[in-house]
Amino acid sequence: MTHCSPHDLVQLQMTSRSLYAFISTHKHLWTAAQGNVGLPLVPVVEAGGNRSSAACAVFIFAGGECTWCSKFTPAQPFSFVFRFRACSPSCLKLLLSDVSLYVDKSKTYEDFSWGRWLPRSKLHSPFNVYSKRDIKYADRERQQAIGIDDHSSRRDPLGIPHRTVAQLNEVCLKRARSRDALTEHALRLVSWQTEYFKLKATVSRANYDFIKLMSAVEGKKAQGILRTPKGAALFQAFNRDLTKLTFTVWLENRALLFAQLGCMLDGIFPVGAVGRPNDKLRALTARA
Ligand SMILES: [Zn+2]
Repeated sequence: MTHCSPHDLVQLQMTSRSLYAFISTHKHLWTAAQGNVGLPLVPVVEAGGNRSSAACAVFIFAGGECTWCSKFTPAQPFSFVFRFRACSPSCLKLLLSDVSLYVDKSKTYEDFSWGRWLPRSKLHSPFNVYSKRDIKYADRERQQAIGIDDHSSRRDPLGIPHRTVAQLNEVCLKRARSRDALTEHALRLVSWQTEYFKLKATVSRANYDFIKLMSAVEGKKAQGILRTPKGAALFQAFNRDLTKLTFTVWLENRALLFAQLGCMLDGIFPVGAVGRPNDKLRALTARA
């Protein structure tokens, strides 16, 4: 298990209750998994929320909703301070504009007790920059607490926890005390990501060359192998985990790869096959 990537360890953890308990209580497995892809260790902080190593691995490697349009994207987050993820260049542009960010020229959120915990960044500005999403959430959370104190509040549709002003102040203090450690972790993740993408590009090239070589040896086309569900999944997983494909892996998956390729050449596209613009036409032609 010490050879697992963080993503693999999460997947393994989810397979059974006993594995979940085993992996959760053996912290060295997470340390090893994070080390395998050079990921900085997750800090232990008093702020609430799921800040486990597993949650961090899912956040980085399992994809998620685009912060702007909510569409699922396999892309990694691009801002770890604000926890922003973009599915396209246009969403990225909007998330980096003043539609999503607030430049706090009047230092409003530095002086309010409930705003001191808000994640912030300088982003080439002399002032602190905040995510408008975080400000909105903090404001809503505060309004709900005030409403609970004067018995006028209903449960928030966003699922904000039910807290009085005193309880919320306590939570905000914990968050504020955790902010520096979380910001430092976010900045380390930015440096890690730059290096990770470089390594991933190198491993991807090596894995592509390997598939090309093995396909040529077997008299198949590499592009066809890479479009099969198994081929695409192997290529994506090994690249993600910065691991080179091996002859053993090829032998273990060879039969399935060829079976799926055979189906696709007959115009039947298994679930997970990587599409091409003329696939529909080819499939129709094959059925006719
Ligand atoms: Zn989007």
